[in-house]
Amino acid sequence: MDEFTLINRFFLRQGKHAGVVVGIGDDGAVLQPDPGAEQVQVIDTLVEETHFPPGTQAADVAYRALAANLSDVAAMGGRPRWMTLSVTLTDSSEEWLESFAAGLFEAADEHEVALVGGDTTRGPNLVVTISVTAEIAPGTALLRSGAVAGDTVFVSGTLGDAAAGLGMLQQGSADDWLVNRFLRPTARIETGLALVGKANAAIDISDGLAGDLRKLLDASNSGARIDIEKIPLSQALRDRFDREQRQQLALTGGDDYELCFTAPAAAVADVPDITAIGTVIESNSLEFFLQGDVVEVSDSGYRHFR
Ligand code: ADP
Ligand code: MG
Repeated sequence: MDEFTLINRFFLRQGKHAGVVVGIGDDGAVLQPDPGAEQVQVIDTLVEETHFPPGTQAADVAYRALAANLSDVAAMGGRPRWMTLSVTLTDSSEEWLESFAAGLFEAADEHEVALVGGDTTRGPNLVVTISVTAEIAPGTALLRSGAVAGDTVFVSGTLGDAAAGLGMLQQGSADDWLVNRFLRPTARIETGLALVGKANAAIDISDGLAGDLRKLLDASNSGARIDIEKIPLSQALRDRFDREQRQQLALTGGDDYELCFTAPAAAVADVPDITAIGTVIESNSLEFFLQGDVVEVSDSGYRHFR
């Protein structure tokens, strides 16, 4: 199948999306932004073997690639509108492409994101790059740098599921709620939108709570005290892992794509599906508490001080 046929058959869809003056098919897309809006631009690349195991279903690869991008949009408080897709294909069977397009548009339709262009190449490894353009009212983007002492630290959803799911996937499990949390992360767009004007700082958790919260705090020149026992854990994680294992997964496991943000607690009292886990402090230290003791958190586990 030549590239023209492939693009038309799998990536071009009928129907008009708001703001798309010219979509797929010309040398470039022409887009009509909302008057006065600021744009949020994000881009993310997934490489087979590096970011997902070889043999992952095409639909899951595409879904996850877009969800990872949308998670960054969510962490900025943006409303996603358009995306471009660059894909290096190894397998261009109709079955594979059909599955890929289905996963891509499933994620896109959940947030009304239009695919407006891209590039298609062939190579030895599957590589998927998606770039999303989002919009936001001027000056209202959620930044990493706005946390202030006294803010409450929150996370959305539950943590540790995706890292647990990836481990299970690598051991051969396929159909499991935790595996699905890795393959099909939920981008917290609605949460991000609800936080605009309320949260002081936000980041999405792609590399693990401990590391990503540290990035937020560094950008804000502050620290935090976190109560490990307050970190929300799913029932599935509790059922399968002992306390120390699941807390470790929740603290350092990546790929959850939940949000971590800081806000005055009263300002976000009506935001659903979020959990308070600690407090921002003035000193730069990030301290994790377990039953009143400070513990040191690292990739290999946490241990009690002294
Ligand atoms: P050019 O050679 O001018 O870059 P292409 O043949 O690569 O043009 O692309 C033709 C059209 O198809 C362009 O509008 C481009 O944005 C779009 N396109 C190419 N690949 C993809 C893709 N994977 N997904 C969506 N649109 C694509
Ligand atoms: Mg091209």
